[in-house]
Amino acid sequence: MKEFMEQIECAQTIGITGHIHPDGDCIGSCLALRQYISEKYPEKQTDVYLEPISDEFLFLSGAGQILTIPKNEKYDLFFVLDCSSEDRFEPFSSLVRNADTVFCIDHHISNQGMGNYCIADPKASATCEVLCDLIPLEEVSLKCAECLYTGIVHDTGVFKHSNTTKKTMIYAGELLEKGIHHSKIIDETFFQKTYVQNLALGRALLNSRLFCDGTIICSGLSQEELDQLGAVPSDVNGIIDQLRVTKGAETAVFLYPLKNGGVKVSMRSNGKVNVSSIAQEFGGGGHILAAGCTMFGSFEQIEKQLLPKIKEQL
Ligand code: AMP
Ligand code: MN
Ligand code: MN
Repeated sequence: MKEFMEQIECAQTIGITGHIHPDGDCIGSCLALRQYISEKYPEKQTDVYLEPISDEFLFLSGAGQILTIPKNEKYDLFFVLDCSSEDRFEPFSSLVRNADTVFCIDHHISNQGMGNYCIADPKASATCEVLCDLIPLEEVSLKCAECLYTGIVHDTGVFKHSNTTKKTMIYAGELLEKGIHHSKIIDETFFQKTYVQNLALGRALLNSRLFCDGTIICSGLSQEELDQLGAVPSDVNGIIDQLRVTKGAETAVFLYPLKNGGVKVSMRSNGKVNVSSIAQEFGGGGHILAAGCTMFGSFEQIEKQLLPKIKEQL
Protein backbone atom coordinates (compact mmCIF):
# COMPACT_ATOMS: atom_id res chain seq x y z
CA MET A 1 0.00 0.00 0.00
CA LYS A 2 2.90 2.33 0.85
CA GLU A 3 4.48 1.76 -2.56
CA PHE A 4 1.12 2.18 -4.29
CA MET A 5 0.67 5.62 -2.71
CA GLU A 6 4.30 6.63 -3.16
CA GLN A 7 4.35 5.73 -6.84
CA ILE A 8 1.19 7.75 -7.48
CA GLU A 9 2.56 10.72 -5.55
CA CYS A 10 5.86 10.70 -7.50
CA ALA A 11 4.29 10.44 -10.97
CA GLN A 12 3.01 13.38 -12.98
CA THR A 13 1.63 11.42 -15.94
CA ILE A 14 -0.18 8.17 -15.22
CA GLY A 15 -1.59 5.64 -17.70
CA ILE A 16 -4.04 2.89 -16.78
CA THR A 17 -5.03 -0.13 -18.84
CA GLY A 18 -6.67 -3.55 -18.46
CA HIS A 19 -7.25 -6.61 -20.58
CA ILE A 20 -8.68 -6.91 -24.10
CA HIS A 21 -12.45 -7.47 -24.27
CA PRO A 22 -12.81 -5.50 -21.04
CA ASP A 23 -15.33 -6.93 -18.57
CA GLY A 24 -17.03 -5.25 -15.60
CA ASP A 25 -14.09 -5.74 -13.26
CA CYS A 26 -11.56 -4.53 -15.79
CA ILE A 27 -13.60 -1.41 -16.63
CA GLY A 28 -14.62 -0.81 -13.00
CA SER A 29 -11.07 -1.09 -11.67
CA CYS A 30 -9.52 1.15 -14.36
CA LEU A 31 -12.18 3.86 -13.89
CA ALA A 32 -12.14 3.60 -10.08
CA LEU A 33 -8.38 4.12 -9.98
CA ARG A 34 -8.58 7.04 -12.43
CA GLN A 35 -11.39 8.60 -10.37
CA TYR A 36 -9.46 8.22 -7.12
CA ILE A 37 -6.24 9.69 -8.52
CA SER A 38 -7.93 12.58 -10.33
CA GLU A 39 -9.92 13.58 -7.23
CA LYS A 40 -6.91 13.41 -4.92
CA TYR A 41 -4.40 14.88 -7.38
CA PRO A 42 -6.32 16.99 -9.93
CA GLU A 43 -3.03 18.38 -11.24
CA LYS A 44 -1.84 14.97 -12.48
CA GLN A 45 -2.63 13.71 -15.98
CA THR A 46 -4.39 10.35 -15.74
CA ASP A 47 -5.39 8.50 -18.92
CA VAL A 48 -7.33 5.22 -19.17
CA TYR A 49 -6.74 3.05 -22.25
CA LEU A 50 -9.14 0.22 -23.08
CA GLU A 51 -10.75 -1.38 -26.10
CA PRO A 52 -14.27 0.06 -26.67
CA ILE A 53 -16.53 -0.81 -23.73
CA SER A 54 -20.14 -2.04 -23.80
CA ASP A 55 -22.88 0.58 -23.54
CA GLU A 56 -24.12 -0.60 -20.13
CA PHE A 57 -20.89 0.68 -18.53
CA LEU A 58 -21.04 4.16 -20.05
CA PHE A 59 -22.72 5.61 -16.93
CA LEU A 60 -19.54 5.05 -14.91
CA SER A 61 -17.55 8.19 -14.21
CA GLY A 62 -14.80 8.75 -16.79
CA ALA A 63 -16.16 6.13 -19.20
CA GLY A 64 -16.58 8.81 -21.87
CA GLN A 65 -12.90 9.79 -21.66
CA ILE A 66 -11.48 6.28 -22.17
CA LEU A 67 -8.86 6.33 -24.92
CA THR A 68 -8.94 3.49 -27.44
CA ILE A 69 -5.92 4.55 -29.53
CA PRO A 70 -2.47 4.92 -27.92
CA LYS A 71 -1.25 8.52 -27.58
CA ASN A 72 2.36 9.25 -28.47
CA GLU A 73 3.32 9.72 -24.83
CA LYS A 74 5.85 8.34 -22.37
CA TYR A 75 4.12 7.95 -18.98
CA ASP A 76 5.88 8.22 -15.63
CA LEU A 77 3.72 5.42 -14.24
CA PHE A 78 1.48 2.84 -15.90
CA PHE A 79 -1.03 0.67 -14.07
CA VAL A 80 -1.99 -2.67 -15.63
CA LEU A 81 -5.18 -3.93 -13.99
CA ASP A 82 -7.04 -7.27 -13.99
CA CYS A 83 -4.50 -8.70 -16.37
CA SER A 84 -1.67 -11.20 -15.99
CA SER A 85 0.20 -11.24 -19.29
CA GLU A 86 1.31 -8.83 -22.00
CA ASP A 87 -0.72 -10.42 -24.80
CA ARG A 88 -3.84 -9.51 -22.82
CA PHE A 89 -3.17 -5.76 -23.12
CA GLU A 90 -1.55 -6.00 -26.54
CA PRO A 91 -3.19 -2.89 -28.11
CA PHE A 92 -1.43 -0.73 -25.49
CA SER A 93 1.68 -2.80 -24.75
CA SER A 94 4.06 -0.25 -26.32
CA LEU A 95 2.76 2.44 -23.91
CA VAL A 96 3.30 0.10 -20.98
CA ARG A 97 6.79 -0.88 -22.17
CA ASN A 98 7.79 2.79 -22.58
CA ALA A 99 6.58 3.86 -19.14
CA ASP A 100 9.17 4.54 -16.43
CA THR A 101 7.39 2.36 -13.88
CA VAL A 102 4.81 -0.39 -14.38
CA PHE A 103 2.47 -1.32 -11.52
CA CYS A 104 0.28 -4.39 -11.89
CA ILE A 105 -2.80 -4.96 -9.71
CA ASP A 106 -4.63 -8.23 -10.28
CA HIS A 107 -6.32 -11.28 -8.78
CA HIS A 108 -5.57 -14.03 -11.32
CA ILE A 109 -3.96 -17.19 -9.98
CA SER A 110 -2.03 -17.37 -13.26
CA ASN A 111 -0.29 -14.02 -12.61
CA GLN A 112 3.40 -14.75 -12.18
CA GLY A 113 4.38 -11.17 -11.51
CA MET A 114 4.51 -8.37 -14.02
CA GLY A 115 6.09 -4.93 -14.08
CA ASN A 116 8.20 -3.21 -11.43
CA TYR A 117 5.54 -3.69 -8.77
CA CYS A 118 2.87 -6.37 -8.77
CA ILE A 119 0.07 -6.96 -6.30
CA ALA A 120 -1.81 -10.09 -7.41
CA ASP A 121 -4.09 -11.58 -4.78
CA PRO A 122 -5.75 -14.80 -6.01
CA LYS A 123 -7.98 -14.82 -2.91
CA ALA A 124 -9.58 -11.52 -3.92
CA SER A 125 -12.87 -11.85 -5.80
CA ALA A 126 -12.03 -9.01 -8.18
CA THR A 127 -9.32 -6.50 -9.00
CA CYS A 128 -11.78 -3.96 -7.57
CA GLU A 129 -11.54 -5.82 -4.24
CA VAL A 130 -7.73 -5.52 -4.34
CA LEU A 131 -8.20 -1.78 -4.97
CA CYS A 132 -10.39 -1.62 -1.85
CA ASP A 133 -7.35 -2.98 0.07
CA LEU A 134 -5.16 -0.23 -1.39
CA ILE A 135 -7.40 2.87 -1.39
CA PRO A 136 -8.51 4.09 2.05
CA LEU A 137 -12.30 3.62 1.96
CA GLU A 138 -12.90 6.95 3.66
CA GLU A 139 -11.32 8.57 0.59
CA VAL A 140 -13.62 6.74 -1.86
CA SER A 141 -16.22 9.06 -3.41
CA LEU A 142 -19.67 8.04 -4.66
CA LYS A 143 -18.40 7.98 -8.27
CA CYS A 144 -15.42 5.84 -7.36
CA ALA A 145 -17.65 3.54 -5.26
CA GLU A 146 -19.92 2.93 -8.28
CA CYS A 147 -16.93 1.73 -10.29
CA LEU A 148 -15.59 -0.52 -7.51
CA TYR A 149 -19.03 -2.01 -6.80
CA THR A 150 -19.65 -2.73 -10.50
CA GLY A 151 -16.36 -4.65 -10.72
CA ILE A 152 -17.10 -6.75 -7.65
CA VAL A 153 -20.66 -7.48 -8.81
CA HIS A 154 -19.44 -8.72 -12.19
CA ASP A 155 -16.57 -10.92 -11.06
CA THR A 156 -18.62 -12.54 -8.29
CA GLY A 157 -21.67 -13.11 -10.54
CA VAL A 158 -23.61 -10.85 -8.13
CA PHE A 159 -22.01 -12.26 -4.94
CA LYS A 160 -22.77 -15.86 -6.01
CA HIS A 161 -19.45 -17.37 -7.12
CA SER A 162 -17.20 -19.20 -4.68
CA ASN A 163 -14.73 -16.29 -4.79
CA THR A 164 -17.18 -14.23 -2.67
CA THR A 165 -15.84 -13.95 0.89
CA LYS A 166 -16.78 -12.15 4.07
CA LYS A 167 -14.26 -9.47 3.08
CA THR A 168 -15.96 -9.07 -0.32
CA MET A 169 -19.30 -8.51 1.43
CA ILE A 170 -17.81 -6.08 3.95
CA TYR A 171 -16.32 -3.99 1.14
CA ALA A 172 -19.62 -4.16 -0.79
CA GLY A 173 -21.39 -2.93 2.36
CA GLU A 174 -18.94 -0.04 2.73
CA LEU A 175 -19.52 0.91 -0.91
CA LEU A 176 -23.32 0.78 -0.43
CA GLU A 177 -22.93 3.28 2.38
CA LYS A 178 -21.51 5.78 -0.12
CA GLY A 179 -25.05 6.01 -1.53
CA ILE A 180 -24.72 4.04 -4.76
CA HIS A 181 -27.84 2.72 -6.53
CA HIS A 182 -26.87 -0.92 -6.12
CA SER A 183 -30.00 -2.54 -7.59
CA LYS A 184 -29.82 -0.29 -10.65
CA ILE A 185 -26.15 -1.17 -11.16
CA ILE A 186 -26.87 -4.90 -10.85
CA ASP A 187 -29.93 -4.85 -13.10
CA GLU A 188 -28.63 -2.54 -15.79
CA THR A 189 -25.05 -3.80 -16.06
CA PHE A 190 -25.43 -7.49 -15.20
CA PHE A 191 -28.91 -8.88 -15.84
CA GLN A 192 -30.29 -6.67 -18.58
CA LYS A 193 -29.59 -8.00 -22.09
CA THR A 194 -30.24 -6.39 -25.45
CA TYR A 195 -32.45 -8.24 -27.91
CA VAL A 196 -29.36 -9.16 -29.96
CA GLN A 197 -27.57 -10.49 -26.87
CA ASN A 198 -30.57 -12.71 -26.10
CA LEU A 199 -30.60 -13.97 -29.69
CA ALA A 200 -26.89 -14.81 -29.43
CA LEU A 201 -27.55 -16.68 -26.18
CA GLY A 202 -30.40 -18.59 -27.81
CA ARG A 203 -28.26 -19.54 -30.80
CA ALA A 204 -25.39 -20.64 -28.55
CA LEU A 205 -27.73 -22.84 -26.49
CA LEU A 206 -29.09 -24.46 -29.66
CA ASN A 207 -25.52 -25.04 -30.89
CA SER A 208 -24.43 -26.66 -27.60
CA ARG A 209 -23.40 -30.30 -27.39
CA LEU A 210 -22.86 -32.60 -24.44
CA PHE A 211 -19.86 -34.90 -23.95
CA CYS A 212 -18.87 -37.50 -21.34
CA ASP A 213 -22.38 -38.35 -20.14
CA GLY A 214 -23.37 -34.70 -20.02
CA THR A 215 -20.51 -33.65 -17.73
CA ILE A 216 -18.99 -31.40 -20.39
CA ILE A 217 -21.01 -28.89 -22.42
CA CYS A 218 -19.47 -27.14 -25.41
CA SER A 219 -20.81 -24.43 -27.66
CA GLY A 220 -19.59 -21.72 -29.98
CA LEU A 221 -20.72 -18.94 -32.29
CA SER A 222 -19.01 -18.51 -35.65
CA GLN A 223 -18.29 -15.12 -37.24
CA GLU A 224 -21.04 -15.87 -39.77
CA GLU A 225 -23.58 -16.49 -37.01
CA LEU A 226 -22.51 -13.34 -35.13
CA ASP A 227 -22.81 -11.30 -38.34
CA GLN A 228 -26.26 -12.76 -39.10
CA LEU A 229 -27.45 -11.69 -35.65
CA GLY A 230 -25.72 -8.30 -35.86
CA ALA A 231 -23.77 -9.21 -32.71
CA VAL A 232 -20.37 -7.81 -31.65
CA PRO A 233 -17.89 -9.68 -29.40
CA SER A 234 -19.16 -8.06 -26.18
CA ASP A 235 -22.66 -9.42 -26.98
CA VAL A 236 -21.52 -12.94 -26.07
CA ASN A 237 -20.58 -12.04 -22.48
CA GLY A 238 -22.57 -14.17 -20.07
CA ILE A 239 -23.31 -17.05 -22.48
CA ILE A 240 -20.69 -19.22 -20.77
CA ASP A 241 -22.44 -18.69 -17.41
CA GLN A 242 -25.72 -20.04 -18.78
CA LEU A 243 -23.92 -23.10 -20.21
CA ARG A 244 -22.32 -23.73 -16.81
CA VAL A 245 -25.66 -24.04 -14.99
CA THR A 246 -26.81 -26.88 -17.26
CA LYS A 247 -27.83 -29.68 -14.90
CA GLY A 248 -25.15 -32.39 -14.80
CA ALA A 249 -22.47 -30.25 -16.41
CA GLU A 250 -19.13 -30.12 -14.58
CA THR A 251 -17.34 -28.03 -17.18
CA ALA A 252 -18.59 -25.61 -19.82
CA VAL A 253 -16.64 -24.44 -22.87
CA PHE A 254 -17.62 -21.58 -25.17
CA LEU A 255 -15.79 -20.56 -28.36
CA TYR A 256 -16.03 -17.42 -30.47
CA PRO A 257 -13.84 -15.79 -33.10
CA LEU A 258 -11.34 -13.00 -32.36
CA LYS A 259 -10.31 -10.19 -34.68
CA ASN A 260 -6.78 -11.61 -35.02
CA GLY A 261 -8.04 -14.84 -36.60
CA GLY A 262 -7.77 -16.76 -33.33
CA VAL A 263 -10.58 -18.30 -31.30
CA LYS A 264 -11.43 -17.11 -27.80
CA VAL A 265 -11.92 -20.05 -25.46
CA SER A 266 -13.95 -19.42 -22.28
CA MET A 267 -14.13 -22.19 -19.70
CA ARG A 268 -16.07 -22.57 -16.46
CA SER A 269 -15.99 -25.35 -13.89
CA ASN A 270 -18.46 -26.33 -11.20
CA GLY A 271 -15.66 -27.59 -8.95
CA LYS A 272 -14.09 -30.85 -10.12
CA VAL A 273 -11.99 -29.45 -12.95
CA ASN A 274 -9.28 -26.80 -12.63
CA VAL A 275 -9.88 -24.89 -15.86
CA SER A 276 -7.07 -22.43 -15.13
CA SER A 277 -4.47 -25.21 -15.47
CA ILE A 278 -5.98 -26.26 -18.83
CA ALA A 279 -6.08 -22.65 -20.06
CA GLN A 280 -2.46 -22.20 -18.99
CA GLU A 281 -1.42 -25.26 -21.05
CA PHE A 282 -2.71 -23.36 -24.08
CA GLY A 283 -1.05 -20.07 -23.16
CA GLY A 284 -4.01 -18.52 -21.32
CA GLY A 285 -4.92 -18.26 -17.67
CA GLY A 286 -7.55 -17.13 -15.20
CA HIS A 287 -8.96 -18.69 -12.06
CA ILE A 288 -9.55 -22.32 -11.03
CA LEU A 289 -13.28 -22.14 -11.87
CA ALA A 290 -13.20 -19.53 -14.66
CA ALA A 291 -10.43 -19.30 -17.21
CA GLY A 292 -9.73 -18.60 -20.84
CA CYS A 293 -7.19 -18.77 -23.62
CA THR A 294 -6.78 -18.01 -27.33
CA MET A 295 -6.40 -20.96 -29.70
CA PHE A 296 -6.16 -21.39 -33.46
CA GLY A 297 -7.99 -23.75 -35.81
CA SER A 298 -11.59 -24.77 -36.39
CA PHE A 299 -13.99 -25.10 -33.43
CA GLU A 300 -13.89 -28.88 -33.96
CA GLN A 301 -10.08 -29.02 -33.87
CA ILE A 302 -10.02 -26.91 -30.71
CA GLU A 303 -12.63 -29.09 -28.97
CA LYS A 304 -10.55 -32.16 -29.87
CA GLN A 305 -7.58 -30.64 -28.04
CA LEU A 306 -9.54 -29.48 -25.01
CA LEU A 307 -11.85 -32.45 -24.35
CA PRO A 308 -9.09 -34.96 -23.39
CA LYS A 309 -7.60 -32.41 -20.96
CA ILE A 310 -10.97 -31.91 -19.28
CA LYS A 311 -11.73 -35.66 -19.21
CA GLU A 312 -8.38 -36.32 -17.47
CA GLN A 313 -9.62 -34.31 -14.49
CA LEU A 314 -13.18 -35.68 -14.31
P1 AMP B 1 -13.60 -15.16 -19.68
O1 AMP B 1 -13.90 -16.57 -20.06
O2 AMP B 1 -13.08 -14.34 -20.80
O3 AMP B 1 -14.72 -14.53 -18.93
O4 AMP B 1 -12.38 -15.27 -18.68
C1 AMP B 1 -12.41 -16.00 -17.50
C2 AMP B 1 -11.22 -15.63 -16.67
O5 AMP B 1 -10.02 -16.05 -17.31
C3 AMP B 1 -11.09 -14.13 -16.48
O6 AMP B 1 -10.63 -13.90 -15.18
C4 AMP B 1 -10.08 -13.72 -17.50
O7 AMP B 1 -9.37 -12.59 -17.12
C5 AMP B 1 -9.20 -14.94 -17.62
N1 AMP B 1 -8.74 -15.11 -18.99
C6 AMP B 1 -9.52 -15.23 -20.09
N2 AMP B 1 -8.79 -15.38 -21.21
C7 AMP B 1 -7.49 -15.34 -20.81
C8 AMP B 1 -6.22 -15.41 -21.50
N3 AMP B 1 -6.14 -15.57 -22.83
N4 AMP B 1 -5.10 -15.31 -20.75
C9 AMP B 1 -5.16 -15.16 -19.42
N5 AMP B 1 -6.33 -15.08 -18.71
C10 AMP B 1 -7.47 -15.17 -19.39
MN1 MN C 1 -11.53 -9.43 -16.14
MN1 MN D 1 -11.26 -9.66 -12.57
